[in-house]
Amino acid sequence: PNKPLSDIEIARQAKMQRIDAIAEKVGIPDDALEPYGKTIAKVDISAIPGLAERPDGKLILVTAINPTPAGEGKTTTTVGLGDGLNRIGKKAMICLREPSLGPCFGVKGGAAGGGYAQIVPMEQINLHFTGDFHAITSAHNLLSAMIDNHIYWGNSLGIDTRRVAWRRALDMNDRSLRQINSSLGGVSNGFPREDGFDITVASEVMAVFCLANDLADLEARLGRMIVGYTRDKKPVTAADIKAVSAMTVLLKDAIKPNLVQTLEGNPAFVHGGPFANIAHGCNSVSATKAGLKLADYVVTEAGFGADLGAEKFFDIKCRKAGLTPAAVVIVATVRALKMHGGVAKNELGKENIEALKKGLVNLGRHIENVRKFGVPAVVGINNFISDTSSEHEAIQSFCREQYGVEAVVCTHWAEGSKGTEALARQVVALAEEDHHLDGLGFRHLYPDAMPLWDKMKTIATEIYRASDIIADQKVRDQFRDIEAAGFGHLPICVAKTQYSFSTDPNLRGAPINHVVPIREVRLSAGAGFLVVVCGEIMTMPGLPKVPSAEIIRLDENGQIEGLF
Ligand code: ADP
Ligand code: MG
Repeated sequence: PNKPLSDIEIARQAKMQRIDAIAEKVGIPDDALEPYGKTIAKVDISAIPGLAERPDGKLILVTAINPTPAGEGKTTTTVGLGDGLNRIGKKAMICLREPSLGPCFGVKGGAAGGGYAQIVPMEQINLHFTGDFHAITSAHNLLSAMIDNHIYWGNSLGIDTRRVAWRRALDMNDRSLRQINSSLGGVSNGFPREDGFDITVASEVMAVFCLANDLADLEARLGRMIVGYTRDKKPVTAADIKAVSAMTVLLKDAIKPNLVQTLEGNPAFVHGGPFANIAHGCNSVSATKAGLKLADYVVTEAGFGADLGAEKFFDIKCRKAGLTPAAVVIVATVRALKMHGGVAKNELGKENIEALKKGLVNLGRHIENVRKFGVPAVVGINNFISDTSSEHEAIQSFCREQYGVEAVVCTHWAEGSKGTEALARQVVALAEEDHHLDGLGFRHLYPDAMPLWDKMKTIATEIYRASDIIADQKVRDQFRDIEAAGFGHLPICVAKTQYSFSTDPNLRGAPINHVVPIREVRLSAGAGFLVVVCGEIMTMPGLPKVPSAEIIRLDENGQIEGLF
C-alpha cells in the first residue's frame, strides 16, 4: 500500500507554473523568452539588457564518489540543492545536461532527477524536448554527407577514403550501426568505404556546442574539427569541406538555453549533453554563464565520479570558459560506499558499518582530489530509506576527523527542499566566506604549457594515484605529432571507466600503484581537447537484453507509462 510513487508519477502530479512566471523570478524579460508550449522556453540571452555588465553569481559543482550499480544521485542532489538554496532565501538556478534518448529506452532511464527533486515537464525533457539533439544530429550528418559528396565529385582536397575520421550520428542505442559499409550499390552511390555511427552525445558537434560562447565562436570551433586526412596525412577540416556556415544555421536556435522548472517552481537551464568519457560531460557554457548573471547561485552537475567529472569540469570547462567554482558538493550514498567496501548489491539493505568504513577510502580520496583545485568541499549524503543513523554518523565522523569536512544528510528525494536546507546553508557558508583552503584560490591541475604526455601523467598520478602511464611507441608518437601540429596547449579529456580510479572497473575503493595504459588518442580540435582513451570506450551504446523500451507505452488516457 505504501509503495513510493515513481519519478514519473510524482512529476505528473506537479502543478507547473507557466514558464513566463518562472522567467520572471530571475528577471528574464518577455522579449528574451521564446516559449515552446506553456512550461518550456528557449532564452535569447542577447535580448536581456545589460546582462554582460552584471556581476557573476557563485558556481557550485555537484559531483560524486565513483559510481556503483547502487546509484548515487548527482542530478537529484543538484536539483535538491537548487531548491534548498531558494528555500533559504538565495536566488539560485540549476544547470543540467539534456538527456539522451538512448539511455531512456535502454537501462539507465531518464535524467531529470528523482523523487521530490526533479525538473519538469519530465516527459518532454527526457524525450524530444526543444529539438536540440535533433539539430545537433542534423548538423553532424550534414557534414558527413558533404564529406562523401566532396569525394564523389572529384575529391579536390585529396581526402584518403580510408582515413575519414568523421562518422555519422544518431540519438539511439543501436549497436548494429557501430561499423558499417557505406556507399554500396554502384558507381552512382559513391566510393564504398568503412564507416559507422556514434550516438549524438558522443559527436564532437555536441562538445563544441557545449563549449561555445556564442554563434561566432561556435562557427569558428566547428571549422577546426578534423574530418579526415589526405594520403600524406595532412588533416582536412570541416572548414575545408565548407560545411560550417550551414551547420551553424542548423544550430542557431538550439544554442539558446532551455528554461524549465523544478517541482518547487525554481528555474533551471537544461542545455547540451556531451558524453562524459570522450567529451567533458557538462551542460553548455552558454547556459552556465547566463545562469551566473541571472542568479546569485548556479548549481550544476558533471558526469560520472569526481575523478572524471570534476577534473574535466575544472580543467576543461572552467579553464576554457574562465569560470571560477566557489564550492563543490561530493555526493555519497551509504549503499555505494558499502559496495566500495566489498558488499554485494543484494546485501546493501543491511546495516554494515565495517564495510562502510572500508569503502570510505573512496570518498576520502575524492575529497583530497577536489582540494588540489583549491575549492572547498562538502559531502552530501543522499539518504536512502534503508540507511541507518549509525551509518550516517560513521560517514560524518570520518569526514570531520580525517579531512575537517562536513557531511550533511540530505533527504530531498523524499522531501524536496526541506531535505537540503542544511546542505544549502553549508554550501553558502563555504561559498560566501571564501573558504578557499590555502588562500591560493581555484586553480587548474596543470598549466596549458605543460607537454601533453606530462599533463596525462599528472592527471593519472595526482587524481587516479597511478604510479605511471604507459603506451606503445605508436601512441607516444601521436602525442608528439599532435604537439608538432600546434595542439600542445590543449587540455586532456580522459576516457576511462567511471567505476574505478584505475582503468579496471572492478577495482573499487581507492587503489594505488596501478598503471594507466593508454590505448589511443583522438584530437578533438574543434572542442579543443585531446581525448586520451584508456580502456574500452563505447561511442555507440547497445540496448540491454530487456530494454525499458519494452515497457514504455501510452495508457488508455494517452499518458506515458514506463518512463522512469
Ligand atoms: P546520477 O545523476 O548520479 O546518475 P540521478 O540523480 O539521476 O543519479 O539518480 C539516479 C536514480 O536514482 C534516479 O532514478 C533517482 O530517482 C534514484 N534516486 C536518487 N536518489 C535516491 C534516493 N535518495 N532514494 C531512492 N532513489 C533515489
Ligand atoms: Mg545525472
